[in-house]
Amino acid sequence: MEKVELKNIANLCKRRGFIFQDSEIYGGIGSVWDYGPLGVELKNSLKDQWWKRMVYDRDDMEGLDAAILMNPRVWKASGHIASFADLLLDCKDCKKRFREDKLKERKCPECGGELTDPKSFNLMFKTQVGSVEGQSQDVYLRPETAQGIFVNFNNVVNTSRRKLPFGVAQIGKSFRNEITTGNFTFRSREFEQMEVEFFVKPGEDETWYEYWLEERMGWYISLGIRKENLRLREHAKDELAHYAKRCHDVEYFFPMGWSELEGIANRTDYDLKKHSELSGENLVYFDNARSERYTPYVIEPSGGVDRAVLAFLVDAYREETVRDKQRVYLSLNHKLAPIKVAVLPLLKKNPEIVTMCHKLRDDLKGNYRVVYDDTASIGRLYRRQDEIGTPFCVTVDVDSLEDGKVTIRERDTMEQERIASTRLKEVLGVKLGLDT
Ligand code: ATP
Repeated sequence: MEKVELKNIANLCKRRGFIFQDSEIYGGIGSVWDYGPLGVELKNSLKDQWWKRMVYDRDDMEGLDAAILMNPRVWKASGHIASFADLLLDCKDCKKRFREDKLKERKCPECGGELTDPKSFNLMFKTQVGSVEGQSQDVYLRPETAQGIFVNFNNVVNTSRRKLPFGVAQIGKSFRNEITTGNFTFRSREFEQMEVEFFVKPGEDETWYEYWLEERMGWYISLGIRKENLRLREHAKDELAHYAKRCHDVEYFFPMGWSELEGIANRTDYDLKKHSELSGENLVYFDNARSERYTPYVIEPSGGVDRAVLAFLVDAYREETVRDKQRVYLSLNHKLAPIKVAVLPLLKKNPEIVTMCHKLRDDLKGNYRVVYDDTASIGRLYRRQDEIGTPFCVTVDVDSLEDGKVTIRERDTMEQERIASTRLKEVLGVKLGLDT
């Protein structure tokens, strides 16, 4: 497999409208990104696929959408105020900052200068609630979506009448004041997480933990990530977070090397117990069948939407030479492709061809994104759609006006097929396979 560089992906994202630097006209702000017209389609499709697999395909899951701002005692109970921190060292010469756990030796990796002693730096963004000076309260932008699920445990159990085992799924924004950034969107200060807290009876946690490792690897592969670019890495004992009994990272072979895509942790009963202690509300489960009361254990698959978008882009990126010309295409799974079909005229000067194109686009649109484009020659139009991962182009030419047939061109193979335009919707529906 050819090696993809992150800068190729970042260039393509900017040039074609997937991802832009946030507030770019003001020079941007470090490690914050905006998703453009194609990026928002890709990101939404990815989240839809996650939700479908996690919620709609199962009968043991509920959804939730908790707020970003929470009572600050949540973060006291979870341990984030005390320990969600990185140890940082500054270079006395070039003034750059580094995370202690990422340093190979005690000197500046950039200029070789002397480093300060490590200082603890909390990663949570702080802000205030209330407008009266002196009466406002410090609150935090949530650094993970998980706590919104834990504090709603009783609400969800009481309203859904769920029995163990069951999970709560949530997708939402999280914020971390990351110090060591770079690598495009990989480590952003504002990002989205897709998390499940899966509640199980203590003692059944190990089995469910193994289940979720396999299930999550399977999801990435089912949407097209190549198996050889994905691996599971278990955390060593001294690497485990304070709440975790076991943890595996799903790692992807990004251009900068193997890096975390998702964390799968056995969080035990740590969070529910801590919140019970500090809030006074008993977050326990009553097992009717056994007439027992206990605090469930929790298995947490916690993925990053932005990291997944990046991984799917890297994995889909292809360069090849066709008739002495370079072709770049994104071999994205049909379910993820931002635009599913492009309708293109071979001759835009012929008004009948253009009218037929518009009619076909109008027939197709509604269930997925279809575009019409006549702003370049057909060769360039194909290349443009290839580069953004559009699975099918439909071309109307002079013959189409006579025989009512159009050409379907497939992105990866570039193979062309002529079919009656009356069958187009049905044929594309099958080819796209969006219902499966
Ligand atoms: P890292 O070690 O890379 O900082 P983490 O172990 O702190 O990540 P978790 O707390 O396990 O990350 O968060 C779960 C998931 O959320 C990660 O696997 C990742 O996909 C995503 N995530 C975490 N921090 C960021 C970030 N700064 N930018 C983008 N995604 C993130």
